Amino acid sequence: MFNKNLFANKLKGIEPYVVDTGKYKARLDANESFIPLREDIRKKLCEVIESFDFNRYPDPHANDLKVAFCDYYGLKTGNVCVGNGSDEIISLLMNCFVDFGKSVMVFTPDFSMYAFYASLVGLSVVQCPKKADFSIDFDLAEKAIKENDVKLVIFSNPCNPTGKIEKKSDIKELAQKCPETIFVVDEAYMDFASIKNTESFLKETEEYENLIVLKTLSKALGAAALRLGFLVADKKFCDMLFAVKSPYNVNGLSQKCGEVLLKEKAYLDECTKSLCDSCESLYKEIVRSGIGKPDATYTNFVFFKDERAQEKQTFLRENGVLIRKFGIDGGALRITSGTSEENALVVKTLGEFKN
Ligand code: PMP
Repeated sequence: MFNKNLFANKLKGIEPYVVDTGKYKARLDANESFIPLREDIRKKLCEVIESFDFNRYPDPHANDLKVAFCDYYGLKTGNVCVGNGSDEIISLLMNCFVDFGKSVMVFTPDFSMYAFYASLVGLSVVQCPKKADFSIDFDLAEKAIKENDVKLVIFSNPCNPTGKIEKKSDIKELAQKCPETIFVVDEAYMDFASIKNTESFLKETEEYENLIVLKTLSKALGAAALRLGFLVADKKFCDMLFAVKSPYNVNGLSQKCGEVLLKEKAYLDECTKSLCDSCESLYKEIVRSGIGKPDATYTNFVFFKDERAQEKQTFLRENGVLIRKFGIDGGALRITSGTSEENALVVKTLGEFKN
C-alpha cells in the first residue's frame, strides 16, 4: 500500500487532465486547427533540423522567435515573454505573481485550468458567475474584486468554452476601477474574432500597467505541437516573468520552428480565414439541422446547451467523433470546427441520435 502522507495535502483529490488519445475519424474536442502544415514550410523546418545545434541549450529569451512574433502582430519585443505554451505562463502567473493565500478571481464558465493552477499553489479562488447569457457581469465583478481583495483576475476573451466576446471598453473600465488588481486577458482565440471584430488589447498593454494579454500559437496559427505561448504586457511584467521562469523553458526546436512559421504571415492569415469559414459553416449547419441553438461564436468552435450532452458525447465517440461536453447549466456541447467532411460527419451523427 502506497503511503499517501508522502504527498502534500493540496494534492489530495487532484484529478489529472484527461486527454483521449484513441483513434477517431474526427477529433473535434481540443480547438486545434485542422489544417496540416503546407509542404514548403515543412521543408523549411527540415532544413532547421539539419543545421540545429542539439548539443547547446536554447536561448532563454527566445529572442529570434520573439522578434518574429512581434513582427507578426506589430509589437515591441520588450513587451513580450515566451512560455512553454500559454499553460506554463498561466501556471507561473499563479505561482509567482500572487502572494500565498491571497485571492484570484475567475469567471464561470471559463477555461478550467485557471482555477486549477491557482488552487494548486494555495491561492483562494473567487468564482464570479456569468450572466444567464454567459456574458461577464462587470458590476458583480467589481464588487467581488473589492470585497475579496482580489489580486489577479483572469479570463479568456473570446471565451473558451462559450465562444462569446466581451467589449474592450467594459474590460478597460473595470481595470481602471481596480488599479491594484492584475487583469489577465487570455486572447487565445482572438485571431478568429479579429476578422469580425477588434476587441483585442494586444497593442494597448503599454497604456495599462495592470493589464496582461496572453497569446498562443496553438489555435489559429495551427502549431499546438510546438507548445508556444506568449505574455504581452508592460515591460516590468515581462522582465519579472523572465526572472521567475526556468531559464530554458522553451525548447530550441520549438523556438526555431515557431520563428519559421511566424514569418509566413500571408499563409497564416489564409489559414485563419479558412478556420473561420469552416466554423461559420458548422455553425450554420447546426442551426439549420435543428441540432442545437448556439449563440454567435468568435472562435473556431460552436457551443450550445444540451440537456443530453453526456449521452450525445458518448454516442458520437462510439461513432468515431470526439467532442467536448460540459456540465454547465444542465449540460452543453462544444464542437471544434474541422474539415468540411468532419463537420458533415458530426452533424450527420448528431442527427442520428435518438431522443
Ligand atoms: N487559454 C485558453 C483559453 C485555451 O483554450 C487554451 C487551450 N485549450 C490555452 C489557454 C492553452 O494554450 P496552450 O496550448 O498555449 O498551452
